[in-house]
Amino acid sequence: MATKTVNTSAMQPRPPIIAVLGHVDHGKTSLLDAIRQTNVAAGESGGITQHIGAYQVAFNNQLITFIDTPGHAAFTAMRARGGQTADLAILVVAADDGVMPQTKESISHINSAGIPFVVALNKTDLPGVQVDRVKGQLAEADVLVEGFGGNVPIVEISATKKINIDKLLEVLLLLAELQELKADTKGTLEAVVIESNLDKHQGPLATIIVKNGSLKPGESITTVPTNLKDNPITGKTKALTDWQGQSLPIATPSTPCQVLGFSSVPPVGSIITHQDTLSELKTKLQQTTSSEINSSPADETSQNIILKTDVVGTLEAISGSLPEKIHLLHAGTGAISESDVLLAGTSAARIYGFRTKPTPSAKKLAQIDKVSIQTFETIYDLLDNLKELSNKTLSEQQRETVNGEATILKIFNLPELTVFGCHLDSGTIKVGDKIHLQRADGSSKNAIITSLKIGTKDVQKVSLNQEFGATITPVLDAKASDKIISFTPPEPII
Ligand code: GDP
Repeated sequence: MATKTVNTSAMQPRPPIIAVLGHVDHGKTSLLDAIRQTNVAAGESGGITQHIGAYQVAFNNQLITFIDTPGHAAFTAMRARGGQTADLAILVVAADDGVMPQTKESISHINSAGIPFVVALNKTDLPGVQVDRVKGQLAEADVLVEGFGGNVPIVEISATKKINIDKLLEVLLLLAELQELKADTKGTLEAVVIESNLDKHQGPLATIIVKNGSLKPGESITTVPTNLKDNPITGKTKALTDWQGQSLPIATPSTPCQVLGFSSVPPVGSIITHQDTLSELKTKLQQTTSSEINSSPADETSQNIILKTDVVGTLEAISGSLPEKIHLLHAGTGAISESDVLLAGTSAARIYGFRTKPTPSAKKLAQIDKVSIQTFETIYDLLDNLKELSNKTLSEQQRETVNGEATILKIFNLPELTVFGCHLDSGTIKVGDKIHLQRADGSSKNAIITSLKIGTKDVQKVSLNQEFGATITPVLDAKASDKIISFTPPEPII
């Protein structure tokens, strides 16, 4: 996540944070072990390695942070409260087994997070593995790897024989470099809880990864509720410990550390800040959460759904008959799981089940997170319901009001700031307006106007035929002649 701040001088590169996903038994844990063992000289820091949910290694003189709880359930839990922790993902696929159901789920979760990833084709030490067969299966799952019609990097490894681990790390660092990950160590503290528990002796413990700013022992901290029904959990940092059990005088961006001092256990995915910056961060998070939801994958005017069915046959039948404006975010067979609910929660999706039910824990989570789950016994009823949803989505969209329309004339890429030079063709545009950035190819993305300038003067509003400079969040790729359309969204569909 590129953190925008006015004070550019304190922006510094930060290490990438990496999550590992993939099907069960494909070697995620073995890979995390292999990376840790090959890149940390045992006993070097005098510390004892302990599991706190993440670790950090040095490779080619660069630090890399790994989230040490593999799998998509943990990955999505981390995102559930608005905290996007990982910058990059490794999709582990065992070469002997190929693409399996949880591989597909992992792909959906990575896509929903919108982060780059590399495929680690594992267990290539086994005799008779057919690499091209797996590449073909990945292509069927819409992952086009290098040399197979796409540009998703793929590295053939063996986690247990420690083959090509260095190559994998090199690719990860290359991907990270492209992201230009930066943080302002002196800026507002923003950290994500990646693991938490109640320790019998010490009390609530939380492992956090700082994304911006820094945290020192003695400072007052709080969670930032993104949900009205949540109360902040506060505390005073009594101790900060790294993954090798060493106490830290300061936790800087991307460094995982365990925090002692919360009054109760903060849930995984919670965002942490200093108590005096709580309201500032709350406003910022509400803005990013809404724009992230608005910019969900594919055609963002569609309604996302997650479909779970009893067997592959019905899954194919239903996914082949979806009405327009319904976007299938993820599909699979089996019970509706907690991870489905978490994905739905972070992607504004509804869950549809055909001859399947939610597990008790998924049902409970759906009630808490207000995720809609509907189950059906006949395909006809399910498709009928989807048709209704599709019609509703269409008619709601027609009620969206357009406030103003501008054409982008020129884009100014300043350090830490992208300014769009525009001409207002109709209506008005104000600071804080929601906008569609409509590209020449017809695709569009949503953002929010964060500032407007006429000449060198900051203004709150621009009027017809004025030329102006605008900044938006999130910063989107644009070209001259793309349109900025300010709109008021319709009431959400309940
Ligand atoms: P996870 O469930 O994805 O975390 O998978 P694990 O790391 O627990 O590995 C599952 C099994 O596969 C274990 O028995 C590992 O020893 C084995 N395994 C993992 N990586 C490799 C590999 O590169 N080659 C071979 N031959 N076996 C592996």
